[in-house]
Amino acid sequence: MGFLEAGTPMRWEDTKKYHEILEYVIEHGIIQFLNVYEKVKDRKNDVLLWGDELEFHIFEKTEHGMKLALIAADTIQKLKDEDEKALKNGDESSAATWHPEYGAWMIEATPSGPYGGFVNDLLHLETNLRKRRKRIIDVLGDKYGLSALVSWPLLGVGSFTNPPLKPGGDVSESYFLPDGVINPHPRFATLTRNIRLRRGKKVDIRLPLFQDKRTDEKASSRTNAEYVVRSSDNLSEEKAKEVYMDAMGFGMGCCCLQVTFQARDLQESRTLYDQLAPLCPIFLALSAGSPIFKGMLVDTDVRWQVIAGSVDDRTPVNLGVSKTPCKLPGAEVPQRGTHSIGKSRYDTIDSYIADLNDSRFKPEYNDGNLEVNPKALNVLKENGIDCNLAKHVAHLFVRDPLVIFSERIKGVDDKQFTEHFENIQSTNWNTMRWKPPGLDVKTGWRVEFRPMEKQLTDFEDAAYINIIVLITRVILFFDLNFYVPISIIDKNMERAHDRNAILEKKFYFRKDLFVLEKQCEEISELGPSLLSGNGASHTKSDSSSPGPSDSKDISDEYEEMTIAEILTGKGENFPGLFPLIHAYLDIMQVDDQTIDVILSYMSLLVSRAQGTLPTEATYIRNFVQNHPDYKQDSIISEKIHNDLVSHCEKISNGEISVPEFLGKNKIIPVHQEELEHRIDNVLSGSAAESLSRDNKRLRGASFHEEIQSDKRFLYRCSLVKSLVEKHKKMRDLPGYKHTINNSLGAFDTTPPFLNI
Ligand code: ADP
Ligand code: MG
Ligand code: MG
Ligand code: MG
Repeated sequence: MGFLEAGTPMRWEDTKKYHEILEYVIEHGIIQFLNVYEKVKDRKNDVLLWGDELEFHIFEKTEHGMKLALIAADTIQKLKDEDEKALKNGDESSAATWHPEYGAWMIEATPSGPYGGFVNDLLHLETNLRKRRKRIIDVLGDKYGLSALVSWPLLGVGSFTNPPLKPGGDVSESYFLPDGVINPHPRFATLTRNIRLRRGKKVDIRLPLFQDKRTDEKASSRTNAEYVVRSSDNLSEEKAKEVYMDAMGFGMGCCCLQVTFQARDLQESRTLYDQLAPLCPIFLALSAGSPIFKGMLVDTDVRWQVIAGSVDDRTPVNLGVSKTPCKLPGAEVPQRGTHSIGKSRYDTIDSYIADLNDSRFKPEYNDGNLEVNPKALNVLKENGIDCNLAKHVAHLFVRDPLVIFSERIKGVDDKQFTEHFENIQSTNWNTMRWKPPGLDVKTGWRVEFRPMEKQLTDFEDAAYINIIVLITRVILFFDLNFYVPISIIDKNMERAHDRNAILEKKFYFRKDLFVLEKQCEEISELGPSLLSGNGASHTKSDSSSPGPSDSKDISDEYEEMTIAEILTGKGENFPGLFPLIHAYLDIMQVDDQTIDVILSYMSLLVSRAQGTLPTEATYIRNFVQNHPDYKQDSIISEKIHNDLVSHCEKISNGEISVPEFLGKNKIIPVHQEELEHRIDNVLSGSAAESLSRDNKRLRGASFHEEIQSDKRFLYRCSLVKSLVEKHKKMRDLPGYKHTINNSLGAFDTTPPFLNI
């Protein structure tokens, strides 16, 4: 969850001196951003690299049931020791890098290094996920388990840890969560305390309680009985029909699934950031996995708003409920912030960052409440940062630094370090994150896709991750345009939270994605003249790109669609995301074996969107509602909890087969001696062999750009169009068999866009 620096973290204070330190960090954060920007803005031709982040809960199987085990630090150390030992013996094949997370019971696993941009990387992902899981399970031993649930069902109820701890402590002052569940690294407790202190009271998270036949209007008496009011600043109690939570751990204790991509250059990173943003609510609903919080069924299916509330450090003025900053008891100066801020630090994005040459973008799309730090905005503009980007960065800087290490303030050389920038950047937890390279220039421009919920099995995780990877490729290849106004993304985000939104809600989505079609027409009309010129580029001069002046009412550009329609298409004109992926795979002439694996991923997502398979949220809700111990009162008893955790662990580890959840996809037991895998059954030979097979680069260059210098542009345009037409007709993915279009003479090679 962001960067970890060591040192002495400062406690939040409303004093003049402390506020000056905050201002120093903010001011130098901007300088550091500018220094990096200047150094790397012209960096070009980086390859596609990408990597995921997966989080897990560690629990202990005790005689009193399944309890969270606060042993993550130990477990991570053991895993790292193993890696080091293996490395000494010449084995460099460690599958993972291990990271601490907010909860002292949580572990985050990423691949040991990013995956490359080749077709085979799509296949290796699931095997890598499986190796990571097995590594952790082996280190934990039989006494402990690894849970891939998004939210731990009994978090905050009774004694849910082993050893049992009493709720509360002076860090979070929670009625439900003991401070002892927070990761012992000082960053985490400091974040928690400082959010509470900045805000002036505890965080306040409320979810609608699921109303079942016998649900008590006053919610669960169990939790009310345990309230011990410790601080006068927050006397909130669970109101009727609400599940109330009061600590950062309820949100940051959830398991997420994030994917980071390296872009070719700055401009491509801006395109990917923007084009992926409207997909965030769709993929949140599509990956829904959290119907239980604090021991109760809730009337939502996803975690997002819980995390948003759990780190919301806005003061009453920031929240817009007070006009003038107030002075808290004992404070020297009033609370920070003289303006209202519409969203929590953990929320959907507030603006697009399109490059001004991007013909798809219209300023009207940026209709969000984009509060900016005015000083930062000035400095950025004075230093030549264009309007969209300057506003984005200045918006990040409306937040205060939350964790400052006293040894690392003025001594930090802005030319050598970016930690003040990273301080703000890494605590703006939005649906998308735009990640500039570091000053060491080891990495390129990256974007991170952050909305998805962790899934139970490696197969599902691989499905969601790989589909997003492929979506980035089709966005670039077809120059897709997903733009809708920011306010519309926010509407979708609200809908994505609803119970069973995947089937019962429609989402606003852009009607006309396929910019390429117009471009090809335009090229065929202009043909020779365009070719003889020095390559007209995809800029504002395109006739297909109405600028702000000639823009029609943008509300005509989008309409409501089901997620199934977004994935598989709607009517004659909207192709759907998956047919475009199919066309792309055809164009790339990806081999049949690989296609089969990708099809298994696509059909999982389509089956969920069409309701033939349940999301994890629905599956868990059904499990609870059909449990003999369930009293139709929305309450998760200890017995239900233990059975649910154990059942889900068995699914994750492939110990039981659950066709009603995963269809025909079988998870091979993780304890099986040989690390045999679903995918190994499809692929012949070892990983090394398969790498040396006909491996192709996942090309991402814009087809439009490519064909301009190609003599066969008309032929190729019609080829691509006919492929899309063919796949567009596909509506019923599970029965659909992909065939490669050799007869059409698809591209023989995969020309890379890079000179490498
Ligand atoms: P954070 O927690 O800040 O989001 P992490 O370092 O935990 O980031 O993980 C980011 C992911 O990005 C990992 O999967 C990692 O393998 C991957 N990654 C690392 N370097 C690159 C790169 N140059 N391009 C794309 N992805 C990368
Ligand atoms: Mg994390
Ligand atoms: Mg991480
Ligand atoms: Mg991340």
